[in-house]
Amino acid sequence: MDKQDKPKLKLAVYWGAACGGCCVSVLDVHEKLFDVVAAADLVFWPIALDIKYSDVEAMDDEHIDVTLFNGAIRNSENEHMAKLLRKKTKILVAYGSCSHLGGIPGLANFSDREEIFDRVYHKSESTVNPEGTIPLTEHNVPEGTLALPKFYNDVLTLDQVVVVDYYLPGCPPQTERLLEVFMAIVTNAELPPKGSVIGASNKSQCDECDRIKTDKKTVKRFFRPWEIEDDGKTCLLEQGVICMGPATRSGCGYRCIKGNAPCRGCYGPHEGIIDPGAKMMSSIATMIDSNDPAEIERIVESIEDPAGTFYRFSLPSAILRRKLIIHN
Ligand code: SF4
Ligand code: SF4
Repeated sequence: MDKQDKPKLKLAVYWGAACGGCCVSVLDVHEKLFDVVAAADLVFWPIALDIKYSDVEAMDDEHIDVTLFNGAIRNSENEHMAKLLRKKTKILVAYGSCSHLGGIPGLANFSDREEIFDRVYHKSESTVNPEGTIPLTEHNVPEGTLALPKFYNDVLTLDQVVVVDYYLPGCPPQTERLLEVFMAIVTNAELPPKGSVIGASNKSQCDECDRIKTDKKTVKRFFRPWEIEDDGKTCLLEQGVICMGPATRSGCGYRCIKGNAPCRGCYGPHEGIIDPGAKMMSSIATMIDSNDPAEIERIVESIEDPAGTFYRFSLPSAILRRKLIIHN
C-alpha cells in the first residue's frame, strides 16, 4: 500500500493524578511534531483538544490504537478514565513515573485521606474555614446535584487498576525515547512482549554513569547535595550524597548526574530489583566507613528522610506500598 494511503494511527494522551509535565513532554518533540501528526491523528488529549469524555464513551472498543496514560490513580475519575481508555485502546502505555510507579503523587501514601483533608481543609496556615467544610462527592443546590470525584485513601499505579501493555518510565520520559517508541509502533516494528518497560535499558544508572567508583568504604556521614562541594568526578554516593543510581533503571542518559545532581530514581527499579529502598540500603551499607555499631547508627541517621528519598517515585508500587496509619 502506498505510504500516503496507510491509515493514520489513532493516538490519545490522558492524565490522571499528574503535574502536567508528561503532557508537556509530548510537545517537547518540537519540529518532530510534524512527523507525529503525519503518522497519527490525536483523537483525545484534554490538555490540548476539546474532546469530551462522552466522545470517548461513544467510540467503538479498541478504536484508539495507542493511549499514553500519564498520572497515577488518585480518585474515582482517574479510575473511570483508566477503565474507559483500556476498553477503547489497543495499546495502553503507562507513560511516566506516576502511572508506572505512583510517582511524586504516590508520596501521599505516607498519609491517608483523613490526614490529608485535615491538613488541607483545617490546619494549613493559609486556610480560613471556620465551618470546617470539606469536599463532598455530592451536594444538592436548587439547580440540581453537584458531583465531585471520590478522593481515594491510597494512590494507585495504573496497573493496579487495569492491564497495562507497556511502561515508558521517567519524570517525564525522555522525549527521544518517546519518539523511538512511537516510530516503532508506526512502522510496525517488532515490539517487546506485553508488560515490558520500553524506551529504557535493563541496566542500572551506575552501569552507564561515568563518575569514578572506587568500591572503597568512604562515607563517615551522609549529606544533602548543597552541603558538600562536589568534585564533579567521583561517584556522588562515595562522596556521601544519596544517589539512587544503584537502584534505578538507566535510559535517561543519566541526565541529572550529568548536571551534577544525584539521581532520584524516576526511571524506577531496573530488572532484578524487587524493592528500590531495600536495594539502596544494601548499597549504602557498602559505603559506610566504620565497623563500630554506634558510629554506623550515627552515619545512617544522617540520611535525611530515608523513606521519602528511597521511594520518591515508587512508593505505591514498592513492597512498602504505604504507611499504616491508625486513627483513635
Ligand atoms: S551512585 Fe550515582 S554518581 Fe555514583 S556511579 Fe551510581 S549513578 Fe553515578
Ligand atoms: S538521572 Fe535518575 S532522576 Fe534523573 S532523569 Fe535519570 S532516572 Fe530520573
